[in-house]
Amino acid sequence: MSIDENIRSVRKRIEGAAKRSGRSPDEITLVAVTKNHTVSEIQQVINSAVTNLGENRVQELLPKREALGDVVAWHFIGHLQRNKVKYIIPLIYLIQSVDSIALAREINKQCRELGKVQDVLLEVNVSGEASKYGFSPEEVLFAVDELARFKNVQIKGLMMMAPFISDIGLLRLYFAKMKELFDNLSKRQGPNFEMLSMGMTNDFEIAIEEGSNMVRVGTAIFTP
Ligand SMILES: *Cc1c(COP(=O)(O)O)cnc(C)c1O
Repeated sequence: MSIDENIRSVRKRIEGAAKRSGRSPDEITLVAVTKNHTVSEIQQVINSAVTNLGENRVQELLPKREALGDVVAWHFIGHLQRNKVKYIIPLIYLIQSVDSIALAREINKQCRELGKVQDVLLEVNVSGEASKYGFSPEEVLFAVDELARFKNVQIKGLMMMAPFISDIGLLRLYFAKMKELFDNLSKRQGPNFEMLSMGMTNDFEIAIEEGSNMVRVGTAIFTP
């Protein structure tokens, strides 16, 4: 299978899952996760009309962004160190992985100097795994209020990474819990709070069925 065929297949699966959840596939954003892949592979993704790309490491993002330009929207999806914030701010559409108040404060500071308002998602560690970054579901309520003070940071929604487990029922429960948290916060935050980023190669259909409107897919796009 070529990258183009893989993307068609992923889109079909997104469409099926969207329909099962009573939504239009247009409501689901596909972010192609390009980590560990070359500029020429990524060019094929862009040629297949994918307009959102995700990278999880600053060292990989910078040369790829340089080579490919801003014909696509770049998403940062990995743990971001505060001292690297200044390098990516001018280049990035959405930082999906804001996992501490201190990181948000640094983003706000760098953006103020550039006159940019940075769209971000708050990462939630819904499964409580020690190995995962992110706010707990309780902390995120507090974080939203704290971030309201940062005028150059706009919270657009939530992001989560599901644990690698084979128990589909439990997985569904985590996604549903995120959707509930998202809906509650949406009521408080208003229409700008609109993105719920959950679902990867192993679980994006389940995530969409439970209410995700943004999936981050790597392996299913790049594996021949
Ligand atoms: C790598 C990665 C993905 C994509 O994972 P696949 O299983 O390859 O689809 C999504 N989100 C984050 C944060 C990642 O690091």
